[in-house]
Amino acid sequence: MRFLRYKSSGNVYYGWSHEHLVGHVDGNIFGDFRRMEANMDIDEIKLSYPVLPSKIICVGRNYATHAAEHGVEVPDIPMLFLKPPSSIIGTKESIVLPPQSNQVEHEAELAVVIGKQGRWIKPDETDDYILGYTIANDVTARDLQRRDGQWTRGKGFDTFCPIGPWIDTEFDPADALITCKVNNEVRQMASTRDMVFPVSHLIAFASSIMTLMPGDLLLTGTPAGVGILNPGDKVEVEIEGLGILSNTVMK
Ligand code: MG
Repeated sequence: MRFLRYKSSGNVYYGWSHEHLVGHVDGNIFGDFRRMEANMDIDEIKLSYPVLPSKIICVGRNYATHAAEHGVEVPDIPMLFLKPPSSIIGTKESIVLPPQSNQVEHEAELAVVIGKQGRWIKPDETDDYILGYTIANDVTARDLQRRDGQWTRGKGFDTFCPIGPWIDTEFDPADALITCKVNNEVRQMASTRDMVFPVSHLIAFASSIMTLMPGDLLLTGTPAGVGILNPGDKVEVEIEGLGILSNTVMK
């Protein structure tokens, strides 16, 4: 099933989609809910980002190819960092290049949406804590990331976390192709099977540090091919079986 959020007369509502049709969701997608009739055309509604998390946990260097392009080693335990929820935008919204940076880059990533509160989750029990998956772009001001030595500024600007277009509850993360195109030119392409630490390991590890809450996001790292974004660019992250997250870039 696919959950999304849509805008209607100034409000945002949860919905569910089946092919091109969308229905309203009554209740809480993390608890009790009821799916209403799918009677809206997806092309005629405005989508919002599909979830507003209490935190966005990210993983650095989780694909050996990406670590290699920056000349760094793959870590022996997951290297976590956080992005602020205020960095989130939805599909079709604009990534705004901040004046402090001359090198803002895309990072195409698979994102896990947590469905249930958990701490010290065992690797073989992580499926019980996952609501589903969505697509993310871990937009990064590479020059600021390098200069600061830690990543809060380079990763934390408003609009630096496009997510969407929906949450898919049946997606299988074992071997899905991630593609990033900028102005229709392929920049990144790799399979999720190439992750250094798989989803179950990342959730178990993160939950050994902090309590995971319903709606929290875990971004699973980016493969090789990250590159610069310029004003006017159209950046599309596609994950096989999940859909396409599309954003424009502006100054
Ligand atoms: Mg990243």
